[in-house]
Amino acid sequence: MSSTPVRLADVVPFSWVDGPGNRFVVFTQGCPFDCLACHNPETIPPHPPGTRHQTVAGLLTEIRLAEPYLQGVTVSGGEATAQWRFVRDLFRAVRADPRLRRLTTYVDTNGHALPRVWDALLPVTDGFMVDLKALDPDVHRRLTGRGNGLVLDSIRYLHDRNRLAEVRLLLVPGHNDSADQLERTAAWLAALDPEVRVVVIGFRRHGVRLEFSGTPEATPELLARAREALEDAGLRNVVTV
Ligand code: SF4
Repeated sequence: MSSTPVRLADVVPFSWVDGPGNRFVVFTQGCPFDCLACHNPETIPPHPPGTRHQTVAGLLTEIRLAEPYLQGVTVSGGEATAQWRFVRDLFRAVRADPRLRRLTTYVDTNGHALPRVWDALLPVTDGFMVDLKALDPDVHRRLTGRGNGLVLDSIRYLHDRNRLAEVRLLLVPGHNDSADQLERTAAWLAALDPEVRVVVIGFRRHGVRLEFSGTPEATPELLARAREALEDAGLRNVVTV
């Protein structure tokens, strides 16, 4: 078994919001994006003082303790693919373990990774949940500090390989919620696949940096408007949270 250590932000032994069913979630440290709306900005720097390191073997021990109550394991972030070798090694080890191999393996990602990273993860990953922060590249750059070319390519790449579990849209009022942006995003996703699961998440201020804490939160009306735009475009699997 590989002993590639991961830079770890946190571990949650039971979560219902990070993929299907009850899941063990590994939150990695470090992210190539710098999202204005990030709820855990302390997970962005790759090497902050006091970063915890953990090996695959150490995490397997923790997962075994929770195993009777789990449906799967998710690696989230920070950005999981920034430490993709660890993700690959962890999921390989889960699948090789007689007690753990029944667990599904999911990655929660911002999608900013090259095909060779997905190729390394595809053989050991059941599903990828990908954030689409904005379809418009300029808005995406403003919100995250990076363009979205890789993200859009990744969504297509994973969909074509039947491993795109869901696309997550975080709606940030005043930034990516205009009618025009919603319609174009809906059209892009519907052209990809009308059956793709789309999860619309309303921006909440909890945890964000002080300079972004004055941004209005998403209202139920905004979520309903987004849902309508997505469904009007033909998407049949839209969830709002
Ligand atoms: S991609 Fe996620 S972890 Fe990274 S900065 Fe954005 S919200 Fe935070």
